[in-house]
Amino acid sequence: METLSIRVIGAGLAGSEAALQLASFGFKVELYEMRPGKQTPAHKGGNLAQLVCSNSFKGLSLTSAHGLLKNELKMLGSFLLQIAEKTSVPAGESLTVNRDLFSEEVEKLILSTPNITLHREEVQSLEGNLPTIVAAGPLASDTLADDIFKRLGSERLHFFDAIAPVVETDSIDFDYAFYKNRWEKGETEDFINCPLDKETYDLFVQKLREAESVEPRPFEKHELFEGCLPVEEMARRGTETLRYGPMRPVGLGINPTGRKWHAVIQLRAENAQKTLFNMVGFQTRLKWGTQKEIFSLVPALRNARFARLGCMHRNTFIESPKLLDETLRLRPELPCAKGIPPTWFAGQITGAEGYTEAIATGWYAAWNLASTLLYGNSNPLPAESCIASLLRQLVSPNENFQPMNFNFGLLPHLQDMKKKNKKEILGEQAISAITQWLQKNKPFPYQEMV
Ligand SMILES: Cc1cc2nc3c(=O)[nH]c(=O)nc-3n(C[C@H](O)[C@H](O)[C@H](O)COP(=O)(O)OP(=O)(O)OC[C@H]3O[C@@H](n4cnc5c(N)ncnc54)[C@H](O)[C@@H]3O)c2cc1C
Repeated sequence: METLSIRVIGAGLAGSEAALQLASFGFKVELYEMRPGKQTPAHKGGNLAQLVCSNSFKGLSLTSAHGLLKNELKMLGSFLLQIAEKTSVPAGESLTVNRDLFSEEVEKLILSTPNITLHREEVQSLEGNLPTIVAAGPLASDTLADDIFKRLGSERLHFFDAIAPVVETDSIDFDYAFYKNRWEKGETEDFINCPLDKETYDLFVQKLREAESVEPRPFEKHELFEGCLPVEEMARRGTETLRYGPMRPVGLGINPTGRKWHAVIQLRAENAQKTLFNMVGFQTRLKWGTQKEIFSLVPALRNARFARLGCMHRNTFIESPKLLDETLRLRPELPCAKGIPPTWFAGQITGAEGYTEAIATGWYAAWNLASTLLYGNSNPLPAESCIASLLRQLVSPNENFQPMNFNFGLLPHLQDMKKKNKKEILGEQAISAITQWLQKNKPFPYQEMV
């Protein structure tokens, strides 16, 4: 059989997974990545599959939505998940990686896969001769994004997302900080806790609010992603909001005076050497000088050196419910699909929010493209599975479509389901559905590559 070639635009999380899957199915892949020649506002350098903010793929437990999604991806042979496990750093019950090592390993695998040719070039248009997966991410280059939105005839949709700061460990004052995981989860103590007493906390919140008193630009007013709010926005919503959010003082025992902690900033390891820690949930859009000033109110961070400060970026996505079918393909019957090769979308640009979701949609687009080209029809995953549930959310009619993380609410609920064991039941249902599906579907020459 003649080897078919596929174009993949963007070697981020979704594009790298898609390219590796397609190569393992026997396709030739022309993979385009514009960095380092052309940068996005959030990536640094030219590493493939770069994690731009947190270094965590979230929880591992099968009673957490992300644990279940990751388990499913593992069952389906995701390459990036295997690499994430290989490059993980201890972080309680979550899958957290050394981000540089993770990117390096993905890049190494891509470069050593004979079926993949990596082009360090910007793709400027959907025009072309090869079936295509668009995985250019939320920060797709302006030229490509303009071409996509002009062709698809839909308005350019976006919201604003923010990145958390990273601290150099040896600049943390351990007279005022301690290692402990919330609820003592995990075998090693992977989190550094930086407590604030009531007086310091109140001042901290007040300063965050004052910094926010600068009138935000019009685009920042209504377009924040609720799951990733900047800390100053949380502070503005109420004095106690942060204490019930990223600064909640629970699961950490009592302080040396025998009282409960008032508020705590948690830091999570960025690398296995633990030379860098990121401020969990502390995404922010404050000016850099202001960030340093306000964070230095925290006793443990008085003299902190920041390897990276927080920032905020546009996050672009298409109107998937109108444009994509349940296989993530641009509906071939739409006028905008004429004159361009068969096109699938994957990753954050579809509105699937989050790292693991990007990998999942990359896997799914590759799978569907392969099935369609080889057998003439797609081969959907069972409705009870996590990925099919995520997909339903993306492509079901929705006039007010917004990006969303995978969550239990997306899984099909049984009638009269009792609240108590709901997560366990939904989890078992999803795993059993995928197990059965896998027994019938092993059609591709899958290779062990990692
Ligand atoms: C600022 C920010 C912070 C985020 N933080 C988190 C977080 O902490 N946790 C989380 O789970 N999710 C986070 N997300 C959401 C999302 O999970 C990530 O953006 C994720 O990387 C999306 O994966 P992707 O493959 O769709 O895009 P990306 O990983 O961004 O990959 C897209 C790739 O395409 C390349 N590219 C773009 N245009 C072109 C072109 N025209 N030609 C060739 N190459 C091109 C880019 O350089 C990039 O390498 C964040 C998003 C943003 C914007």
